[in-house]
Amino acid sequence: MGKRILITGAAGFLGSHLCDKFIEQDYEVIGMDNLITGDIRNIEHLWKLKNFEFYHHDVSSFVHVPGKLDYILHFASPASPIDYLKIPIQTLKVGSLGTHNLLGLAKEKKARILIASTSEVYGDPLVHPQTEDYYGNVNTIGPRGVYDEAKRFQESITMAYHRYHGLETRIVRIFNTYGPRMRLNDGRVIPAFIGQALRGEDLTVFGDGSQTRSFCYVDDQIEGIYRLLLSDYPYPVNIGNPHEITIKEFAEEIIKLTGTAQKIVYKPLPKDDPLQRRPDISRAKAILDWEPKVSRAEGMQKTYDYFRNLSVEELNRSEHKDFSQHIRS
Ligand code: UDP
Repeated sequence: MGKRILITGAAGFLGSHLCDKFIEQDYEVIGMDNLITGDIRNIEHLWKLKNFEFYHHDVSSFVHVPGKLDYILHFASPASPIDYLKIPIQTLKVGSLGTHNLLGLAKEKKARILIASTSEVYGDPLVHPQTEDYYGNVNTIGPRGVYDEAKRFQESITMAYHRYHGLETRIVRIFNTYGPRMRLNDGRVIPAFIGQALRGEDLTVFGDGSQTRSFCYVDDQIEGIYRLLLSDYPYPVNIGNPHEITIKEFAEEIIKLTGTAQKIVYKPLPKDDPLQRRPDISRAKAILDWEPKVSRAEGMQKTYDYFRNLSVEELNRSEHKDFSQHIRS
């Protein structure tokens, strides 16, 4: 009998790509999502398959899955600053209570569990680039605190289950990742800029645009997560692309890519917006023999082609809302 895997957050951006990956590898896949930030259309193409099932469930409440489970991937969580502002309590609950429920399920099923952590555990980092040994610089009571602290707690409870119960656990620290199926209105910089370019609006750069990010294409991210799950390494591993760029330079790249005639406009920097971020991926290279393969030019072209093919209604429905005024100090 084939391996059976539960993927939470299955209708989300990364969750849906993970469903595709494990279906491709002939796993039996159970997708679970409460559809608060996920979109069922991301996994509609899997519904006709015999080896795919979907449970509409919120993992912050007790999780029941009949039958055996070999693996669990916990990817359910809001994952953009706009979402944390709209649903801060759910964000805290899914990272804490949700993770606790899934660790309990993993223990019961004797399954290996991989949890999705984030570069946000490093906060506004004082060490650059970020290695896994850096403890971070997080504002517990800031607008991002609900996400950052839930994810830090998630790592702690996962290690406690590993040490105390001998559970097989894996922790991936995901850095900014992009590609098809990102939500156009999730407020993240890539869908925001592409959406603005497609609607003929100016591109909104927050702050003076000197803050940096390092963007990883989704296929590379999924491959890294896949290798980590199948490895025997229980400690956190950074997965991301170390190619760093300022947000201003990135806006200029988008203007070139999309051929928009619009210009850049500057808006205030949201509170606690990290000034710089770049993963040190030496650990992933050494342990997983992994490094990103897709250049930003190639990845951005694919992402732009995806968004360009969305309907006009969708594009307008998803008009980028500026929530930054809510998160200023
Ligand atoms: N950003 C921006 N304009 C936007 C949306 C985001 O300049 O319309 C900036 C944001 O302030 C941050 C960077 O882009 O410095 C990346 O933001 P995102 O929300 O994508 O990810 P995160 O801050 O969590 O890395």
